[in-house]
Amino acid sequence: MADDGPGRGKVLVVGGTHGNEVNAPWLLETGLREASGGLELALVIGNPEARAAGRRYLDRDLNRCFDPERLADPGAREWEMLRARQLLELHGPEARDPALVVLDLHSTTAAMGNSLVVYGRRPADLALAAALQQRLGLPIYLHEGDPRQSGYLVERWPCGLVIEVGPVPQGVLNATIVNQTRLVLEVALEVLATARQVDPSLPRTLVVHRHLGSLDLPRQADGAAAAMLHPRRLGRDWQPMQPGDPLFLAPDGETIGYAPPSALAQQTVWPVFINEAAYGEKGIALSLTRREEWRLDPAWGAALQAQARQLRLVSG
Ligand SMILES: [Zn+2]
Repeated sequence: MADDGPGRGKVLVVGGTHGNEVNAPWLLETGLREASGGLELALVIGNPEARAAGRRYLDRDLNRCFDPERLADPGAREWEMLRARQLLELHGPEARDPALVVLDLHSTTAAMGNSLVVYGRRPADLALAAALQQRLGLPIYLHEGDPRQSGYLVERWPCGLVIEVGPVPQGVLNATIVNQTRLVLEVALEVLATARQVDPSLPRTLVVHRHLGSLDLPRQADGAAAAMLHPRRLGRDWQPMQPGDPLFLAPDGETIGYAPPSALAQQTVWPVFINEAAYGEKGIALSLTRREEWRLDPAWGAALQAQARQLRLVSG
């Protein structure tokens, strides 16, 4: 059923949540039509101070600052915690002029191409990701249940996902990356605008790469790296890896095979974020996923539509 009601919220589009990811901010400042898809947008640079400094963040990764407990802790006063609270105050779902859907634009240095990152299993997020997978063939990295990594920005809005584009080095502006970011963003806005009017057209199945955990490089007792990622694993994001496959290369030329953590014994895994520059400091050399094919639940499309119907069109 068509619904041309006024709507009550906007779509928040964030670029530069990480200050050294420069392509999405360029797009937001130079190339995006305000009225993309007819929906009212708020275009926001996530971490302008870190961007000015050319760094991922100043005190703390902004995309790990949205944990409700930490947000509520008055003692948490790092710059990025203040910025996280400010973003919620200005554009959060409870703001005076709320955003109800968020698209958070990132780039990666890993050879993953373009992908979507979904946090948890909220039905509207899964429907939006499924529609984008159908339209653009993008892989979906489903992130959930990792106590080492939490507090992601999109989790604080009722619906949202990360658009991850690459590979591109940190701090480097690249027209291809800008154009790919624009394409995914515009299709996402089109899907939302359509879902506002009619039942969203969704595929029957969805392929997700579900996060299982992450691996660090082998370390010496003093913490220094004892091996590098193996050249036969570099650049092979999204490609299956079996126990024993070459994973690390020691300085003496010895190949170290993939030894699965005990919980994953003998399973095939699909690595992502292989050698991602930003994750070295987090002790992550690669993350492991499992490829799964899910049947779409009809309730997901309904959930997306319910969110989309609350979105406001640009007037005039
Ligand atoms: Zn990022």
